[in-house]
Amino acid sequence: MSATHQEQQASSEELFTRAVELMPGGVNSPVRAFRGVGGTPRFIASARGATLTDVDGRTYIDYVGSWGPMILGHADEQVLDAIRGALSRGTSYGAPTALEIEMAEEIIEAVPSIEMVRMVNSGTEATMSALRLARGVTGRSKIVKFEGCYHGHGDSFLVKAGSGVATLGLPDSPGVPASVARDTITAPFNDAGALAEVFDEHGADIAAVIIEPVVGNMGCVPPREGYLQSVRDLTRRHGALLIFDEVMTGFRLARGGAQELYDVMPDITTLGKIIGGGLPVGAYGASREIMNMVAPAGPVYQAGTLSGNPLAMTAGLATLRRLRDRAVYEGLDGAGRRLCEGMNDAAREAGVPTHTNRVGSMFTMFFTEAPVTDWTSAARSDRERFGKFFHAMLAEGVYLAPSQFEAGFIGTAHTDELLDRTIEAARKAFRTL
Ligand SMILES: *Cc1c(COP(=O)(O)O)cnc(C)c1O
Repeated sequence: MSATHQEQQASSEELFTRAVELMPGGVNSPVRAFRGVGGTPRFIASARGATLTDVDGRTYIDYVGSWGPMILGHADEQVLDAIRGALSRGTSYGAPTALEIEMAEEIIEAVPSIEMVRMVNSGTEATMSALRLARGVTGRSKIVKFEGCYHGHGDSFLVKAGSGVATLGLPDSPGVPASVARDTITAPFNDAGALAEVFDEHGADIAAVIIEPVVGNMGCVPPREGYLQSVRDLTRRHGALLIFDEVMTGFRLARGGAQELYDVMPDITTLGKIIGGGLPVGAYGASREIMNMVAPAGPVYQAGTLSGNPLAMTAGLATLRRLRDRAVYEGLDGAGRRLCEGMNDAAREAGVPTHTNRVGSMFTMFFTEAPVTDWTSAARSDRERFGKFFHAMLAEGVYLAPSQFEAGFIGTAHTDELLDRTIEAARKAFRTL
């Protein structure tokens, strides 16, 4: 019996026991470890459509979708076929390909504020590069981010950084130099007055304001009416650049992301997740003028051995081409409404106080009655109750994100039947709370 065969026989419990000896916390990304809900993470053997199957042979309806990328569902046949085709031609060349042009054209055509784009390998890399670019363009060093927003794990962003960090209860991260953290100013989300005060005090030093235009990383929190426009106006007035971190929202809320949905244009946009079709990718884009500051066209250095990787470009293109059809987004919005209305009814019937935020196919049910509009209101959620609900749902065959402060994602593979089964599962789960 081969080693891999033996591994397939091991249970999630056994695998986790081995994993914690080999990897910090047993995982390669913190929130996978179930620390926010307790218990043992499920080790996944395979995935198809809207479902995950673990090594213990249980199948779950999946609302994590690899944290956003799997908008077409898992193991989509067209995406897999495209990857198989690319695979036979080699996996990386370190030289330009026509695929990278096709990807750039696809992104530029879709995202209204992007005229030129640079591909990288993760969302973290995209936001770090976008920040360097904003500093290079403005010659200023401070940035403003919002409490509860997550922009990857770059030093400058690990201040009041939402889900992963909040779940672990770490206020800030050791290893981030105070000199770097000092250049990051935080402000509450959805409060234009607070941002105006920050600009009054530091306006001349602020290179950029970075924002999740719809927050996913403190759970789903939409912008108030007019808020994004206020942020746009303030940045413009003070000569700071506006960065929309659309790593999660890009091609998720609309083909052109949140900037299309809310009709507010940033200076720089970061992308990731969906544009890689399930393979590791990120990107940042802006006007020609700004992007021509990036090396080798300009002096702001940024590079990547595997950037524009042919397998990732292929998976991404196969995904993005399917999202040209605007009916996809209408379908996803309808599915989101069906699910959230059903879950809300179930909570009400059981007398469990909840508040659900949803934008299209992104949603979070918070275990609090009061509206959730920023980090302070999100943090009022009853996390213990969420943990119980999470495990009750898991037992009913529904895989939610293992933290109160994450968004759920619906994809095109979530049929009405699967959504209704989820609502039924919630009805049972709420009764156990
Ligand atoms: C996921 C995410 C990132 C980080 O992307 P990685 O690929 O995990 O590095 C950055 N910003 C936002 C808004 C995200 O949701």
